[in-house]
Amino acid sequence: MTLLRKVIMALTLETINETSVAALEIILAKAESAFGTWAGTTLIARSEALELIADRLDEASDELIQLAMAETHLAEPRLMGELKRTMFQLRFFAKQVLGGEFLNVRIDHKDDEWPMGAPRPDLRRTMQPLGPVLVFAASNFPFAFSVAGGDTASALAAGCPVVLKGHPGHPALSRKTADVVLTALADAGAPEGTFDIIFGTRNGAEALADCRIKAGAFTGGIPGGRTLFDIASGRAEPIPFYGELGSNNPVFVTPAAEAERGESIAREFVTSFTQSAGQLCTKPGTLFVPSESAILDELRNMELPSEAPLLNEGILAAFSDGKGRLESHDGVRVLNDSTSRTTGDASPILFHSTLGQIRRAPESLLAECFGPAALVVTYENVAELSEVAKLYEGQLTASIHGTNSCDVGSLMHVLSQKAGRVLWNQWPTGVSVTYAQQHGGPYPASTAVQSTSVGTAAMDRFLRPLAFQGFPDHLLPAPVRDSNPLGIPRQVNGECV
Ligand code: NAP
Repeated sequence: MTLLRKVIMALTLETINETSVAALEIILAKAESAFGTWAGTTLIARSEALELIADRLDEASDELIQLAMAETHLAEPRLMGELKRTMFQLRFFAKQVLGGEFLNVRIDHKDDEWPMGAPRPDLRRTMQPLGPVLVFAASNFPFAFSVAGGDTASALAAGCPVVLKGHPGHPALSRKTADVVLTALADAGAPEGTFDIIFGTRNGAEALADCRIKAGAFTGGIPGGRTLFDIASGRAEPIPFYGELGSNNPVFVTPAAEAERGESIAREFVTSFTQSAGQLCTKPGTLFVPSESAILDELRNMELPSEAPLLNEGILAAFSDGKGRLESHDGVRVLNDSTSRTTGDASPILFHSTLGQIRRAPESLLAECFGPAALVVTYENVAELSEVAKLYEGQLTASIHGTNSCDVGSLMHVLSQKAGRVLWNQWPTGVSVTYAQQHGGPYPASTAVQSTSVGTAAMDRFLRPLAFQGFPDHLLPAPVRDSNPLGIPRQVNGECV
C-alpha cells in the first residue's frame, strides 16, 4: 500500500464515522447564529470570501486531486478540469455578488394619482437570504457538485450559511475540501458556523427536518431525492428542496441530419454517452434515428471505449440493474457490447429497439440508466417523433439534430414542455457555468421546476422577496435607499435605471 493510500485510509476511517448527535446539534446551532451576521456582511466582504475559497482550493489542488483520484476512480484530466470549473464558479458568483443584480431591486415611489383607483404607497422590494441551507453533495462530481460546488457557492453568495452533507463516496476528499473552505472563510472574517460538514445518512435526514434549516439542495438519484423532498415538504414548516434527480436526455436525429452527417453523429454520440463512464446526469440515454439509418451500422461496428471503473459499488450495482432491465426486455437487442475486451461489469454497451416497443413500455425503456449504456431507437416516420416525445417525464435536456430545412416546430414545442434545456445539433454533456444556463426541468429532472442548479440564476433558490412599505430612507437597507449607495441596477417606477 502506498503512503498516500495509507493516509487516505486513515482519513477515511476517521471521517466516515457519522457525525455524533452532539456535534450535529452544535453545527446546526452555529449555522443558525451565523445567519444574521453572514446575511448582513457587505457585498464586497461576501465576494472576497468566495474569492478566497477559490484561491485556497487552487493552493491545495495537488492534494485534492490525489485524494479525488484515489476515492472516485475518475481520471486526472477530468478531475483537474472539474476543480478548475469549481474555482471559476466561486469567482463567478463572487462577481455576481458585487454587481448586486441578484437583489432584483424594485422601487415604487408614492403616487396619489395611481390609476388603479387608490393611491400607490411607497414600496421597495429586494431579496433576502432564506437562512441556513443543507446541501447534499453528489457522488459523480466530487468537486463541482460536492463540498465547494455550485450549491454551496450559490447559497453562500446569496448570504446563507451552509451545512454540507458529505457524500460517502469520497469522504477524505470531502473532509479536506471542507477544511479548506472553513479556513478560507475564517480568514475572510466570516462568522463561525457559516459553513460546516456532516456525515451519515440519518444525520442528513435529521438536519433536513430541523427547524433551523431553511432550504435543501441535492444532486443524486430519484429514490433518495424523493424521500428527502418529502421530508422537506412534510415538516411543520415546509421548506424548499432543490433536488436534481434523474434524466434520460433523449436525442432526436432527423433524416436530413442523418443523410448530411450520420457518421459524425454516431461518433459524437458514443463520445458523449461514454464520457466519465456515463456517470453524468446529462448523458444522452436514448438516440432516435431513421429505421434505414447508416448510423445504426456505424454504431454496430464501432469499437466502443474500454471499460472504466465506476465511482463506487452502489453506482455499479445500480448500473447492473438498469442494464439488466434493458437486456431482459423482449423488444430490446444488444447493438454493440464491449464486454469481450474487458471484465464486463461496467463496459460500455448499446442497445437497439423500435418506436413501437417504446410505446408499449415507456416506463422501463425511457428511464435513466446511470452509467455507460444507451438505447438506440429506430423510427419509420419523422412525424411520429413528437408523439413519442410526449411519453417522456421531465428531463434536464432534450436534443434535436437537424438541418436548416427541417421542420421541427412540433417536436421543439413538445420538448420545450418536457426539458429544462433544448439543444440544436449539440450534445447535452457539458453544462457550462454562465449567466443564461438552465440545469433543471420538470419532475423528476428536478423537484423545483422554476429553478436551476447551475449558472448565476442558481442563487435565486436561496433568496426570498421582501418589500418595505412606507419607511423613511434612513431606516431602509442600502440596496433600496433613494441614494443607491451600492450603485446597483434597479427598477424605479417601472423603469430600469
Ligand atoms: P443517492 O443515493 O441519491 O444519494 C445522494 C445523497 O443523498 C447521499 O449523501 C445520500 O446519503 C443522501 N440520501 C439518499 N437517500 C437518503 C435518505 N433516504 N435519507 C437520507 N439521506 C439520503 O445518490 P448516489 O449515492 O450518488 O447514487 C445513487 C444513484 O443515483 C446512482 O446509481 C444514479 O442512478 C443516481 N445518480 C444520479 C445523478 C444525477 O445527476 N442524475 C447523480 C448521481 C447519482 P448516504 O449516501 O449517506 O446514504
